Amino acid sequence: MTTIAPGSTIGILGGGQLGRMIAIAAAQLGYRTHIYAPEDGGPAADVSPCWTQGAYEDAAALAAFADAVDVVTYEFENIDPSAVDVLADHGLVRPGAQALRVAQDRLAEKRFASGLGGLTAPFAPVESLSDLESAIARIGGRAILKTNRMGYDGKGQARLGRPGDAAAAWDAIGCQSAILEGFVTFEEEFSVILVRGVDGQVRFWDSAANVHVDGILATSTVPAGPLIEGQVEQARALARKVADALDYVGVLTLEFFASAAGPVFNEMAPRVHNSGHWTIEGALTSQFENHVRAICGLPLGDTGLAAGGAQMRNLIGADAHDWRAILSDPANHLHLYGKHEARPGRKMGHVTRLIL
Ligand code: AMP
Repeated sequence: MTTIAPGSTIGILGGGQLGRMIAIAAAQLGYRTHIYAPEDGGPAADVSPCWTQGAYEDAAALAAFADAVDVVTYEFENIDPSAVDVLADHGLVRPGAQALRVAQDRLAEKRFASGLGGLTAPFAPVESLSDLESAIARIGGRAILKTNRMGYDGKGQARLGRPGDAAAAWDAIGCQSAILEGFVTFEEEFSVILVRGVDGQVRFWDSAANVHVDGILATSTVPAGPLIEGQVEQARALARKVADALDYVGVLTLEFFASAAGPVFNEMAPRVHNSGHWTIEGALTSQFENHVRAICGLPLGDTGLAAGGAQMRNLIGADAHDWRAILSDPANHLHLYGKHEARPGRKMGHVTRLIL
């Protein structure tokens, strides 16, 4: 079990807001961070002393990056696993390549979760329009077609409702490798966020009720209410099996639909997650701090609530211009990510309020 002591350097693939918040937590514990990203700057640049601009396909640059840091982690999952293999040849990568392989492919993650006994929507692989037509015949016409890779915030998805929608949906997602999922009737959505240490110890944060608007997370609220709370234990059991099966190290997120049949697994992220931002003020140890502790082999912090609960609201696009009004209420905790352009649909920051 390798311990990476404070004073060491943590490498982070990706320089967005998640990288920024990991870097802040790392600095608090006495670590330095070094970002590797294709862009020449981003939200993490303001808080991280080292930045390498490089492509995720550039094996030589990745190897040099891994040699320059003590452990590598990442803030998003759409990285080619072969890049992670290059990094692993040159150092420690946590979580490992297997977690990434599963989580970045919707078909692989659904198969993985259902293989471990999790409930999922009915699903079928789709590689062509004729595959899609036979998948519809099997699953039913009320369904969602999603690209297997690179989908996030509702992107790369097409909803089907009527006969004849198949060709339009196949075009809409760019005729690429996809999964057809039956439409799940659900009451609420929630996430299970856990941290797993190098010794296999697992701790869970309280599950938040998540509300999405236009496919983007709008709010996360803890406590999540009786319906979700009644399903959390079953959802956690699956999350723990997933983490153990991958010998996972770090923070792992699984998203669920709370349905009449129980918790239906939707997707997982091998990283800190937007629905866990409330933990910065609302939990005794945040998801970011515990991610750093886990990947560095330190003891994990308490994931219990710091108050009666918390609500996190995302600031999307022009919402971030309201910072003055938000700060005029002293109970609001404002986080802005330092992005220069408030484009519609772009996550610019978030606000958390504790429920006392
Ligand atoms: P995803 O990118 O898979 O998280 O999907 C974005 C949002 O679309 C989810 O948070 C749900 O609100 C909705 N959604 C995704 N898959 C399904 C499904 N199989 N049935 C019903 N709603 C879904």
